[in-house]
Amino acid sequence: MIRRAVVTGGMGGLGEAICLKLAAMDYVVITTHSPANKGSEAWKARWRAEGLRFEAFPCDVTDFDSCAACARVIEEQVGPIDVLVNNAGITRDKTFRRMGREDWDAVIRTNLDSCFNMTKQVVEGMTARKWGRVINISSMSAQKGAFGQANYAAAKAGMHGFTKALALEVAKAGVTVNTISPGYIGTKMVNEIDPIVLADKILPQIPMNRLGKPEEVAGLVAYLASDEAAFLTGANISINGGQHMF
Ligand code: NDP
Repeated sequence: MIRRAVVTGGMGGLGEAICLKLAAMDYVVITTHSPANKGSEAWKARWRAEGLRFEAFPCDVTDFDSCAACARVIEEQVGPIDVLVNNAGITRDKTFRRMGREDWDAVIRTNLDSCFNMTKQVVEGMTARKWGRVINISSMSAQKGAFGQANYAAAKAGMHGFTKALALEVAKAGVTVNTISPGYIGTKMVNEIDPIVLADKILPQIPMNRLGKPEEVAGLVAYLASDEAAFLTGANISINGGQHMF
């Protein structure tokens, strides 16, 4: 059976690994990218050269109408969406004293409103077809808090509540909704951290003494997207090298 998976922010560090993993599972993989990202043709061409065909469509995940238009185009050109990975996200780290209203809004809109905006487009089709997977990429920051991330921690924690409530509503229809909460993963988002801070302050807090790999998160996404994970819903799965256990 052909299944189609949409990964928001699929050209980013984690998103790309998720696209590759789902493609290896024979999903038809569609990514969305921000309208400002002009690199989508080059990205697709790079993977085409490797024998992989990804579809890519512009979509501002903060904008409901943009998500609606994007989902419509995907369904018309590629087909119904079976798996949605809400992966697009940003940080605007500042201590709360310095955090402005715009830092708060941008982070809430990109990380949390995006889940509403995208999931709203696909969930009815999934329930009607009696199969679907919604996978939300949250963060360890939502579980334990993180200095300078009041906006990000709030947005990512909001995803947990969203996951659990929606999971209840769609369980009977064969649709699962889960959240993954990664710790520090070696992508651009983390590589922007000052290397001295990374080495002296962050790595010593991770029992495995290393950053996670995007492929390790992608492996979890792949499991949640599979038929085998049919009984797993409403969960928040941590993947953080042992940094936060509960
Ligand atoms: P990246 O910055 O590499 O990727 C983020 C992606 O989000 C980009 O591809 C970007 O698309 C997309 N994006 C941002 N804003 C918008 C928007 N308005 N509309 C559409 N797309 C948008 O980050 P990561 O790969 O590291 O992170 C992926 C997810 O994982 C995020 O949700 C992040 O919060 C979460 N996470 C990451 C961790 C880490 O350690 N790396 C740890 C915990 C969670 P484009 O490139 O087209 O602009």
